[in-house]
Amino acid sequence: DKIQEERLKFLTDNKGIKAVTLLFSDLEGRLHMLDYDKKFLVKSFDNLTFDGSSIRGFTAQRESDLRLAIDWSAFYLGPADIFGPGKVLVFGEVIDKNGTAYSGDMRGVLKSLANEMHEKEGYTLNAANEIEGFLFAGVDAERKFPETGRFDYVNTGGYYHSLPGDPLRSFIDTTAEVLRAMGFENEKDHPEVAPSQFEINYGYGEVVAAADQIQLYKLICRQVATGMGLTASFLPKPVVGVNGSGMHTNISISKGGKNLFWDPKGEEKLSGFAWEFVDRVLTHGNDICLLLNSSVNSYRRLDPHFEAPNQIKASAVDRGSMVRIPIGNEKSSRVEVRSVAPDSNPYLVLYSIFKSGLHGETAKIANLRQAERYLPDNIYTALENFRNAEWTTKLLGADVKARYGDLKQASADRCARLLGTYVKAAEVQFH
Ligand code: GLU
Ligand code: MG
Ligand code: MG
Repeated sequence: DKIQEERLKFLTDNKGIKAVTLLFSDLEGRLHMLDYDKKFLVKSFDNLTFDGSSIRGFTAQRESDLRLAIDWSAFYLGPADIFGPGKVLVFGEVIDKNGTAYSGDMRGVLKSLANEMHEKEGYTLNAANEIEGFLFAGVDAERKFPETGRFDYVNTGGYYHSLPGDPLRSFIDTTAEVLRAMGFENEKDHPEVAPSQFEINYGYGEVVAAADQIQLYKLICRQVATGMGLTASFLPKPVVGVNGSGMHTNISISKGGKNLFWDPKGEEKLSGFAWEFVDRVLTHGNDICLLLNSSVNSYRRLDPHFEAPNQIKASAVDRGSMVRIPIGNEKSSRVEVRSVAPDSNPYLVLYSIFKSGLHGETAKIANLRQAERYLPDNIYTALENFRNAEWTTKLLGADVKARYGDLKQASADRCARLLGTYVKAAEVQFH
């Protein structure tokens, strides 16, 4: 097609470009990168294969070969100081032996939903994510945590408060500059409420691009921090007793350039269409919690005392609600899903929210938007809800559902075994 032709010509014409980094994500959202020599890629882009058995949550050993197709619309120039000289980044789609989208590749699944809604209804699915994180002293602080038993802040300032030359401020500035250079539409950035915590906001986008940008944002933050001898962490609750990190997910749907969530006469200025979407998300709040909060650590964050939600309700004011309705206008009208952790798979998060909001059920619960219903406070309950829900089978298919459940069971069990040792030590320190 046209865009493919343009990009191939761009690659060939630009002598400075040496290699193309192909990005894709596993079932748990870990980003994988493969570098192809440019000349090879230009010749062979329609015949790329890789071994799926070494990617967590993908195929078993005996059916291991998968194909990669390139999504030429998801094409980014990599700034040399971050990615090395002469690199271009492009997202790939995983294709199985039969040439169809691979069911474990959540990017492909999300893209199918977006395409289907566009073809059938003319909808464009939009998302904007507010991704919080921590900046800690030392490289690789997360991996070293078992030995050190603690994370060390790089500054102790609070909300919007740090000196211009402070490491946290320098980190935010450099990251913001890289994002800009890669085409993100930056909006604002600041130190967050907890010490050494940051948030960099950029504009909303079509849902697949928004998910790709989450992956790039985290990658860039990690790389900038590493370059400074520091660690950027997206653990939802690395330190007990202070705010955790969320990935608030702002959702809207537009049609022909018109925001379908906006209605100046509606409740909280939201349309009936938006409220029906919210009702279905609330209905499935417990079913999809494990997909939005996929790590053991996520459940430590869901505490309203630290501006994180634990209630399955919708509110314009209460930050302890799973869904909040921010003040908006015709352009910015949206709903904010707050119960999302930054270490979850962004494709799976956006797919689960949109699919539930568009195609889910509405529970016959009196006063659904305000009813007393709670999110699970630990991963085992979340896992049980996820496995017991009929909705998650419809959402993912039985096979991917089982595989995802098994991965989460394994990490929950692993943490439970370790809990007696270093995780406890970290808690004692802060109480
Ligand atoms: N850090 C809070 C959370 O865990 C959110 C604070 C905010 O509203 O920006 O979700
Ligand atoms: Mg924030
Ligand atoms: Mg927010």
